[in-house]
Amino acid sequence: MVDFSFTEEQGLIREGLHDWCEKNLSLEKIREIDEKHEVPKEIIKGMADLGFLMMNIPEEHGGTGADWVTTCIAAEELGYADISIALPVLFLVEASWGFVVDRYCSEQVRENFVKKAIKGEGFIGIAITEAGGGSDVANVKSTAKKESDTWVLNGEKLYTSGTEEAKKWGGGYFVLVRTSPPPTPEKHHLGMTGFFLPINAPGVEIVKRFEDMGRMGISTGGFVMNDVRVPDYHRIGEEGEGFYLTMEGFDAARILIGATCLGAAKRALEIGMNYIKEREAFGRPIAKFEGIQFELADDWAELEALRSLVYRTAWMMDKKYEEGKFSARRVSSYISACKLKIPPFAFDVFKRVMLWFGAYGYTKECPIEMGLRGIMSYMIGAEGTLNIQRTIIARELLGRKYIPYR
Ligand SMILES: Cc1cc2nc3c(=O)[nH]c(=O)nc-3n(C[C@H](O)[C@H](O)[C@H](O)COP(=O)(O)OP(=O)(O)OC[C@H]3O[C@@H](n4cnc5c(N)ncnc54)[C@H](O)[C@@H]3O)c2cc1C
Repeated sequence: MVDFSFTEEQGLIREGLHDWCEKNLSLEKIREIDEKHEVPKEIIKGMADLGFLMMNIPEEHGGTGADWVTTCIAAEELGYADISIALPVLFLVEASWGFVVDRYCSEQVRENFVKKAIKGEGFIGIAITEAGGGSDVANVKSTAKKESDTWVLNGEKLYTSGTEEAKKWGGGYFVLVRTSPPPTPEKHHLGMTGFFLPINAPGVEIVKRFEDMGRMGISTGGFVMNDVRVPDYHRIGEEGEGFYLTMEGFDAARILIGATCLGAAKRALEIGMNYIKEREAFGRPIAKFEGIQFELADDWAELEALRSLVYRTAWMMDKKYEEGKFSARRVSSYISACKLKIPPFAFDVFKRVMLWFGAYGYTKECPIEMGLRGIMSYMIGAEGTLNIQRTIIARELLGRKYIPYR
């Protein structure tokens, strides 16, 4: 039996968030966020009060226990509302990496960090990428060495989302570091461990804020760890399991990116549709020209196809977690399909709608350019590049024997 309907509760959640966004996240407000480079704290608190921050954390841990389909609904609505993508980034980074932290952390980390972030009183992010590169996750050079019950962390992380927010609000990062040498050069993903690193721990210093081109409401920075001491209960998961937990977090983030970019593309099309019905050229609304109508029709058809992919994938993810129904690798390949196809599609929609606007579309008076800049971050590589998604899909189709670097 196939049933494509959302539950009544999911419908209410969508409506509730949609209404809240209409009141709190007008396009003028988004422009302000983009210009001031900051999502106001009351927006974060408002989302927390409604139970949307890290909504997928189980109720017994302080969350709302939302499944992945419902969490994607929220991401889609946020993408629709904030086409600059800043607030959706904050939402999805916490919902994915907070999810991994909560799933594998100690009670102390949950009490001190996860529960606070759910209330909007702290930030949880991910710090993997280093100067040596991001795609080759296992090439991380940062280290942790154990001294009785304490781990001493050293190294540098770059291109880390939310460093300024974490500093201001408190909280920290799931950091991936090497705790033992790889057994063989081919197995360099082994010997890595995840830790929860409080951003205000002695020895952590933010050394960089990047001037990004988009999603200006959330910072991207870098920090060094100089002999940072964290207790063993800050270890996330078992020693040596860090690579696998990282892949789990990427999956969570990537499906939410798919949902976010869907929402943003839908909004761009709506903004564009309103405009083409109003704007006249050659004595008629430009919506009458087939050159424009066909673009709209193609985009709508693709949007709906990709929407089905996102929610089918979220459903598979729920089945994986709840019933162990699909293998992690199979689900990952569908998730990578979302990350591979939806950000470029959304980018193209914004580009086309910008052209419908003519000269006005090239100005900052028109909201469309914010989306173009924001969505580009997900094509460039935030949460993994497009080629890396291709390698994940090809691995599933061809088998591990064909992994290129082994
Ligand atoms: C806005 C933004 C926010 C970010 N936030 C975070 C964050 O919060 N935390 C964090 O840890 N990182 C973050 N990143 C970093 C991101 O994870 C990396 O940019 C990404 O993993 C790619 O790494 P890289 O930039 O070093 O590119 P590289 O790995 O150097 O890749 C460069 C190019 O080579 C291609 N390439 C690499 N390997 C292969 C291969 N095997 N096959 C084919 N092509 C390949 C890539 O697709 C890419 O086009 C962020 C990045 C951006 C842009």
